Amino acid sequence: MSDVLTALRAALGEDAVSTGPAVAARATSYWDAAPTRARALVRPRDTAAVSRMLAICHAHDQPVVTQGGLTGCVAGAVAGAEEVILSLERMNAIEAIDPLGATATVQAGVTLQAVQDAARAHDLLFALDLGARGSCTIGGNVATNAGGINVLRYGMMRALVLGLEAVLADGTVISSLNRMLKNNAGYDLKQLMIGTEGTLGVVTRVVLRLHPRPVSRDAALVAMDSFDQVTTLLGRMQRDLAGTLSAFEVMWNGYYRAATDTGGHRAAMGREHPFYVLLQAEGADPAGDAARFAQRLEAALEAGLIVDAVMPQSESERLALWAVRENFEAMLAGRQTFLYDVSLPVSAMAAYAEAVQAACAARWPQGRCIVFGHIADGNVHLFVQPGSDEATHADSDAIVYAPLAGCEGSVSAEHGIGTEKIGWLNRSRSAAEIDLMRLLKRSLDPKNLLNPGRVLPP
Ligand code: ZN
Repeated sequence: MSDVLTALRAALGEDAVSTGPAVAARATSYWDAAPTRARALVRPRDTAAVSRMLAICHAHDQPVVTQGGLTGCVAGAVAGAEEVILSLERMNAIEAIDPLGATATVQAGVTLQAVQDAARAHDLLFALDLGARGSCTIGGNVATNAGGINVLRYGMMRALVLGLEAVLADGTVISSLNRMLKNNAGYDLKQLMIGTEGTLGVVTRVVLRLHPRPVSRDAALVAMDSFDQVTTLLGRMQRDLAGTLSAFEVMWNGYYRAATDTGGHRAAMGREHPFYVLLQAEGADPAGDAARFAQRLEAALEAGLIVDAVMPQSESERLALWAVRENFEAMLAGRQTFLYDVSLPVSAMAAYAEAVQAACAARWPQGRCIVFGHIADGNVHLFVQPGSDEATHADSDAIVYAPLAGCEGSVSAEHGIGTEKIGWLNRSRSAAEIDLMRLLKRSLDPKNLLNPGRVLPP
């Protein structure tokens, strides 16, 4: 038994520190069913225990990897055999909801969906939303500055965090649980923890910003002939729906074909159209909102902007449309797939997607390159499925990332860098930016013990 594990057990209790089969019984991540490898798994019950744990690990030079819901896409939370896992899963309480101030104070291990449900019970909305809502945690959402489907209206996680509490590498607790929208008293320290993927500290509690809960919801799936039409429709809907447009999900033809073929979803309309858009508006006037939404779609049809439209007639039909966009697991099953998350100016998107698809087709004639995204926030996702045994992740990366340079795009829109994209960070950040990141890292974690080997190249 090593010194560090003995010290952790003494400080936190036997029950909080697992090793051996109890660790191996857990899957590595949502994407990888292999047994978890780690020196130990530590599950504290409160911030004081997290502080004690990190102080002990600091004293023993023990690297620590933080885990939330394990749904991240860049392998940032996958532990190494010599690392100790810090899981916040026992810190999952919703501590308080303030209806007047429209805030929720929660522990970092709570799931996104539990927060959404708790807000709804108070007739409020927690606006972050993404497919992994049932598993991902608020701590992970903060650490990765999560995005998802409502960003065009409410912003990314950064816009929804008012305050937070975090523990630094040496165990120091920084409590910055601000509840106001305005607070310019010096540096806004919470930003050090948002989107830094657990490399500067461990988020333990968060004050979230809530919004009024919309009471109407209108959705449609529409088909379009060109990407110009897609962006024209986006602009019109943002203007004409008076700020109620909350989602605008674009699926290139290959996505829709795959989703309604091997993906197992029913095709609600013809599969030949170049683009499909799933849009949704949420407002405060059910009858008026539904009439306005339908009228604007009709006008777009009459003007030839869209060529076909389906409006769900029931909640189950609406969910079936969303399932085409969110439940893509069957499209991936049994095929080697490289998943991408890039951002670039909307004006450059159509040409970018064409260039990547053409490069994939030239390299792997048997493969497919599936494109979809949130686009209003500049975000496109791609599934590269080479259909060839010789294809490597590096080959695929080169094809997807190379054309970004010409349009000042980013190798990560919302998934972060983790370990997977470290080699590409310098494509999206300058040497001076990366040097400043390193300076922050050295200042807050001089022994390089928090999520080492993530985000920053060695
Ligand atoms: Zn996304």
